[in-house]
Amino acid sequence: MTKTPSPNRDSVDQEQFLTILSREDAMARFEAALFPRALPSQQRPLSEALGLALAQDVMAGIDVPPFDRSNVDGFAVCSADLAAASEATPRRLALNEEVIACGTAPVGPVFSGTATTIATGGPLPRGADAIVMVEHTQPVGARAIEVRRAAAPGQFVSYAGSDIARGEVVLRAGSVVGSREIGMCAACGIAKVEVTRRPRVSVISTGDELVQPGLPLPPAAIYDTNGAIVSAAINENGGEAVFAGAIADDETQLEAAMRDALAASDMLVLSGGTSKGAGDVSHRIIARLGQPGIIAHGVALKPGKPLCLAVCDGKPVVILPGFPTSAMFTFHDMIVPVLRRMAGLPPRSDAKVTAKVPVRIASELGRTEFVMVSLVEGADGLIAYPSTKGSGAITSFAQADGFLKIDALADQMPAGSEAEVTLFTPHVRVPDLVIVGSHCTGLDLVTAPLAHAGLSVRTIAVGSLGGLAAAKRGECDLAPIHLFDEKSEAYNTPFLSEGLELIPGWRRMQGIVFRVGDKRFEGLSAEAAVQAALADPACIMVNRNQGAGTRILIDRLLGGARPNGYWNQPRSHNAVAVAVAQHRADWGMTIAPVAHAAELGFIPFAEEHYDFALVAARRQRPAVQAFLGALASDQSRAALERAGFSKA
Ligand code: AMP
Ligand code: MG
Repeated sequence: MTKTPSPNRDSVDQEQFLTILSREDAMARFEAALFPRALPSQQRPLSEALGLALAQDVMAGIDVPPFDRSNVDGFAVCSADLAAASEATPRRLALNEEVIACGTAPVGPVFSGTATTIATGGPLPRGADAIVMVEHTQPVGARAIEVRRAAAPGQFVSYAGSDIARGEVVLRAGSVVGSREIGMCAACGIAKVEVTRRPRVSVISTGDELVQPGLPLPPAAIYDTNGAIVSAAINENGGEAVFAGAIADDETQLEAAMRDALAASDMLVLSGGTSKGAGDVSHRIIARLGQPGIIAHGVALKPGKPLCLAVCDGKPVVILPGFPTSAMFTFHDMIVPVLRRMAGLPPRSDAKVTAKVPVRIASELGRTEFVMVSLVEGADGLIAYPSTKGSGAITSFAQADGFLKIDALADQMPAGSEAEVTLFTPHVRVPDLVIVGSHCTGLDLVTAPLAHAGLSVRTIAVGSLGGLAAAKRGECDLAPIHLFDEKSEAYNTPFLSEGLELIPGWRRMQGIVFRVGDKRFEGLSAEAAVQAALADPACIMVNRNQGAGTRILIDRLLGGARPNGYWNQPRSHNAVAVAVAQHRADWGMTIAPVAHAAELGFIPFAEEHYDFALVAARRQRPAVQAFLGALASDQSRAALERAGFSKA
């Protein structure tokens, strides 16, 4: 995502491009070009005003309640008649004929010595000044009651206007309409309110490779993630997103789409096309869309450096970086404040917590860096695990609890730092069970019943060694590991230290994968298959990363040979299968369930032990007990077996 100046860029663009602004400068310039501005308003029925900002004060046109009314079921009386009533001196009142129900205006008056039956909410009749609760009376025949306690004037009466007085300002301009505000308006009989109109925001994704979700995925294409996520974030922040689709990287097409979209809306948000390559098409177009044009092109943010901010004849035009997580960070950090101001909404007040960072996080000097984190409960407070996936990974967003910010002037956040974490949710959700270590698809099968029982399970994939370190620090309940000790030729047990207990998990068959029908491999043993591959110079392998258990097995089989493809070292079992299935490689080593899911040929070679290092001190926790129960259950065993894993 770095930008290389290209010779065909015009000089104005190049100038802006070379001045990367700090996040604060870029924001200040963008806001100065947009505000102050008049915010268009409109009348909306109450039911459609939810979440919008009131553009005018709301004044009560009536008193609430509109008449003096009874708060209880009972009898309307003259309080003076009962001033001296008590257990010893009960007072008898004659009942009037009338019964005052809710919604009926009283006809007759209440004279001294009489009472009129009245329901909760009934209007107080003329002459009455208090209500006696039915529970505090005794009937005397059908035509009278006896009262054994005194009544004060105004007892159980709500006076007209006591809740809201006519002419009172009940809601102020700028308040956000929620259910309570809607209730206030409804009580005053107000059916429509003047609200700040939601800004219409057009959204365009750019890129030849983009396909809309729901459609088939051709080779080398990817699904358009930004279109959906940016539109949703706009709607979450007071805007009205209008998605115009994904447009190819073609200047003519893109310009037409951008012009149409901008004409029909208050703001335009594009994504993609900001990094090197076809990159500058949209910037050239923006320069033609209106004044003053580009305000910041390149902001010292990570992720999100290629952000472009522009204002075209008063309308904000923004190009977000292409990677979905980069797009979302820049959108939330730099665009949401502007969008909310245009919608008349107050700035977001995201919840924040303090947490300790267990590992050092490197950071680029000169850029404000956002790092997504998962929160777990440590011995003395919250611990924030940085997401290890890059800015291209959408799951890092979905699985994180929030993010922390590393100052532009810092080149790292040292292990053990206390950091402020901005949460994605209103409250911290500390998981019931924390699993940190190597990930396996089998894990989801075992934790499924826990999730269904309402326990929250957090799995953080940091590899076996990272998991062991976390377990030793007591930051997790379980660390799934598959570590092979070459000296003792044993799995996992040699790696445990004090305080950790081994819980046997399952076995994963490792083997050679190849495309079904490849005569070079069919019917051979693993050793023979590798010899066949080495004998064919056109045959390409796919390796695994250093440190992976699978890599140790591959190196053993190769016995020092370095065939074509050896340096292609992906980090996951799935990537190996995909490389072979897509003909980028002819063979590699992966686990049986992955090979079968990819419909590849498979030659079993060695069983890998996938076990759990349990933090012994946490064994009695209910969620740990539930996990151990699930692991031992027949259902889990059967599900694991169906998925191709075998019993430990
Ligand atoms: P670009 O800035 O267009 O070069 O995009 C940078 C990266 O983000 C590329 O890998 C693109 O495929 C990816 N990307 C761009 N737009 C989207 C999108 N709408 N959804 C998902 N990925 C995208
Ligand atoms: Mg692109």
